[in-house]
Amino acid sequence: MSSPDPDAGTILDASTILESLAGCRRWQEEFYRQLHQHPELSHQEHQTAALVAARLRDSGFDVTEGIGGTGVVGQLHNGEGPRVLLRADMDALPVKEATGLPYASTVTAPSSDDGSAEQVPVMHACGHDVHVTCLLGAADLLARHRDTWSGTLIALFQPAEELGDGARGMIDDGLDDIVGSVDVAMAQHVLPGVAGTVGTRAGAVLSAADSMRVTVHGRGAHGSMPQAAVDPVVLAAMIVIRLQGVISREVAPTTPAVLTVGSIHGGTKSNVIGDHAVLELNVRTYDEQTRATVLEAIRRIVVAECQASMSPSGPDFELYDRFPPTVNDDDATARVHAAFAGHFGGDLGELPLQSASEDFSDVPTTLGAPYTYWGIGGTDPDTYRAAVAAGTVDTDIPVNHSPYFAPVMQPTLDTGTSALVVAALAWLGR
Ligand SMILES: [Zn+2]
Ligand SMILES: [Zn+2]
Repeated sequence: MSSPDPDAGTILDASTILESLAGCRRWQEEFYRQLHQHPELSHQEHQTAALVAARLRDSGFDVTEGIGGTGVVGQLHNGEGPRVLLRADMDALPVKEATGLPYASTVTAPSSDDGSAEQVPVMHACGHDVHVTCLLGAADLLARHRDTWSGTLIALFQPAEELGDGARGMIDDGLDDIVGSVDVAMAQHVLPGVAGTVGTRAGAVLSAADSMRVTVHGRGAHGSMPQAAVDPVVLAAMIVIRLQGVISREVAPTTPAVLTVGSIHGGTKSNVIGDHAVLELNVRTYDEQTRATVLEAIRRIVVAECQASMSPSGPDFELYDRFPPTVNDDDATARVHAAFAGHFGGDLGELPLQSASEDFSDVPTTLGAPYTYWGIGGTDPDTYRAAVAAGTVDTDIPVNHSPYFAPVMQPTLDTGTSALVVAALAWLGR
């Protein structure tokens, strides 16, 4: 962690505002149970968005709904000063909940992924219900105590983080006209870890993700007459092997990156040589330059292998499920880290580099604002510490997207709410 911002100056002590946290807690816990019990899939967050908009209006925010589908923005204009954007994501996942919680979800809904009418189970398995509840709490607390700070607070609730296109949809629907310029954007995610803790990280924090579907073309023939064929299975196999050299030979060993061929399909029968094969690849990188290098290397190798195999036509490439990298601004992160250290105590953990991906950074990147993204623990402290002691964290602690992922309500909600208030005041309370 870099040293605290020397320019941080005197920041309003958040404890004045957080004295009201107990009052907030009463409605937040009930709200959280409701939200957890009624999850909605990506782009279907209609009830959630309506609840969010109503709460924001009650707190005194100017509210714009229906941005990029179900996106909601609440703005509280409170005099001269910085414009601070806090973001939460609202969507749930097609996962059948197995937590056994009294407020577990039994909801099913039409799958949003493929547009089919198939009913799938729905669960807040990534903890976005925590994010929504905490941001509504922080927005309410800051609104109630608006006499103690100055500036503009923007609370943004986005759809479809899980598909990687929810933030993009709000941007394409005119988000910049709605919120104007922003001095800093911030977001948080609940993760496995001791509930009550927060962790920041400067620089790269979440990977960019790109999925690519590659179709290579051959010439079909009888399995006994390979001389009449261009065998797409052999071609695909050569591509898979050759791709293993991209990360190991073309990316510096100090630069983390992953290239996985997750799926390969070709042919129908042992004695038939098919006429095409399809490979599905997933790429994870932590900066735009490495991302471009790896994606270009994939294209180069696939094209060259098709030529080497005398493929009758060029390959087809389709990029999908794309997420930008999340690279925290050094100065903004240092300022938030210093504010967190002052509020939560000096012994803040560093958020480890995450191989997961997020589309949050699309918002600040489009608005030209620095941003920082931090993690909060959501696991029962005793359970987590026992797993650490036993060396069984990976097997015993449910992670995000698991059907057993169940953040403990407290101190998780208090911590996530406090973190947002403290971070916002690092700009608004100066
Ligand atoms: Zn997720
Ligand atoms: Zn998530």
